[in-house]
Amino acid sequence: MTEPTATPNESLEYRAEVKQLLDILAHSLYADREVFLRELISNASDALNRVQFEMLTNHDVVDPEAELAIHLTVDEETRTLIIRDTGIGMNRDELVENLGTIAHSGARTFLQNAAKGQGALEEIIGQFGVGFYSVFMVADEVTVTSRSYRAGDAAAMWRSTGDSKFSLFDADKGNRGTEIRIKLKEDAAEFAQPWRLESVVRKHSDYVSFPIYLDGKEGEPRPINRRTALWRQSPSSVEASQYDEFYKQLTLDDHEPLLHVHLVADAPVNVRAVLFVPSQRERGALRLTPDYGLRLYSRKVLIQDRSRDLLPEHFRFVEGVVDSEDLPLNVSRETVQSNPVMRQLKRALTNRLIKEIRTLAENDNAKYLKLWTEYGVFLKQGVIGEPGSQESLADLLRFHSSHTGADAWTDLKGYVTRMQPEQKAIYYVLGDNLATTARSPHLDTFRAHNIEVLYLVDPIDGYMASMLREFDGRPLHNVDDANLDLPANSGDAQPEGEAAPQEDFDKLVSRFRSVLGERVRDVRESKALVDSPARLVSAEDSFERDLQYLRRLMEDDYKAPAKILELNRRHPLVVHLATRIEQAPEDALIDASIQQVLDNLLLLEGSFSGSVADLVARMQQLMAAALE
Ligand code: ADP
Ligand code: MG
Repeated sequence: MTEPTATPNESLEYRAEVKQLLDILAHSLYADREVFLRELISNASDALNRVQFEMLTNHDVVDPEAELAIHLTVDEETRTLIIRDTGIGMNRDELVENLGTIAHSGARTFLQNAAKGQGALEEIIGQFGVGFYSVFMVADEVTVTSRSYRAGDAAAMWRSTGDSKFSLFDADKGNRGTEIRIKLKEDAAEFAQPWRLESVVRKHSDYVSFPIYLDGKEGEPRPINRRTALWRQSPSSVEASQYDEFYKQLTLDDHEPLLHVHLVADAPVNVRAVLFVPSQRERGALRLTPDYGLRLYSRKVLIQDRSRDLLPEHFRFVEGVVDSEDLPLNVSRETVQSNPVMRQLKRALTNRLIKEIRTLAENDNAKYLKLWTEYGVFLKQGVIGEPGSQESLADLLRFHSSHTGADAWTDLKGYVTRMQPEQKAIYYVLGDNLATTARSPHLDTFRAHNIEVLYLVDPIDGYMASMLREFDGRPLHNVDDANLDLPANSGDAQPEGEAAPQEDFDKLVSRFRSVLGERVRDVRESKALVDSPARLVSAEDSFERDLQYLRRLMEDDYKAPAKILELNRRHPLVVHLATRIEQAPEDALIDASIQQVLDNLLLLEGSFSGSVADLVARMQQLMAAALE
């Protein structure tokens, strides 16, 4: 092998962030250094995809006949590894831009995490993949020689030893593409061994869709990757472990996916697709990459890396590959969106995905609950945002309830089977956490009637319930509805104890009204309370009530609409207050208690927004009086 000869004609400093990254990599003890090869091959494959796409419309590229392929060449004696591709190539400016700054989003995430000291560096390298620069874990020196596909661009060469600088040279390279020549570190000599390279390629790059050749000293170059477009095979011929492996190579996620869906159909639209639900929502590199979408091929040519038009937005956690022969090859990245085939693909993919998720829910509850825990919030968004999707998604919703408690979940179907004979609606209570919601005063009467109530404690739950409206013909009702139509009160639901006399109680109500003023919409007697002194209900015309938890989260100065305060005439607190008003109307404790009754309810609902200092002062005043 001959070294390229050229005179250095420029030496440039890396950007600070690159220096920082290189410094970490050079000193890293990361055991899985072999991933550098995966990164370089994935770059070569990207470059091949891009030139392939370019050639669909542009006939004026350098070397139009060159086979789209990746070649690996090694020389054990000089510890040299060469990776060559016939991809899109880079001119001088592109070399500087792409290999002098940080392009790879994983690398940036890596740096941020390293700076925060989150986890061992070695672990974070593995988690994020750091792109091209990972080569410096194994290289003493790297030389990149490249020729762009544009006929007018001259070839150029880039060289670095991974310290603070890189050099640029003019180069003599007749054919299109990029060659990366790596002078391996002494302790990385293994990567100049053909068998070692082959095993790394099989492990990490088997599904790269271009051939990866290992060039021997003698004989023909030998392709070493399987290069199977898994999605184009018949599902019955693919084993579960192959899907897992494909997923890992596609996403660089280390964990097995929760679910895979393999769709092969010719009508109404030709589609070959493999979709995955990852096991975790927050996976390394994805965390800071807002990128989502499916890889879209037409006859194995990559049309779009991340197409967002193949599934509804609420399924943006799904990864995968879609291939359709019905998409014209000359479709551009810009116009693909409006192609009518896309709509058909979307429908086919969405229906099948939902069907498979349902099947999972029916057959493997534990696994489905994992999916729900990770992605439930996305499905809820689907109910809210996608008209027509309510029906298909409603079965998939899971809730905690007064029946399940905090450790188990129910679906709406299960709820319906437990409904009381005369019960007409499905009831839910809104709150901001399970513990306090389970003690909501609204539940008194439901407990007495033995009626189950769903606990909706995610901020978007209320919104979702109001969009869902009904399930299985039964309306969904918020328990804070002022006019609940519950089955006739059975005897045991009657609160115990003496009620405050009517006259005293009326005075109490008007005192509440004058003390609370605008803070409540009205004050009145409750028919529903058993163990609690009071509750807050929404007036019928208060459409906002299901939205309040969400709005409070999104709007800084949001004020929830005032509610109706209902009092339990038999509760000792209410009885004593009524008596006190009768006997000593000037007592300062009366007004303090009234304010406190309301604040307690707001605290239970998770919607207290007043002054905590005032509340504590008042509590102390009441305690002092009680202890006197
Ligand atoms: P990423 O692949 O995530 O963009 P990398 O650090 O792996 O980040 O690569 C940086 C950039 O260098 C790529 O985006 C690409 O523009 C360019 N590049 C790297 N390798 C090649 C190659 N073999 N052919 C053409 N361009 C390449
Ligand atoms: Mg890359």
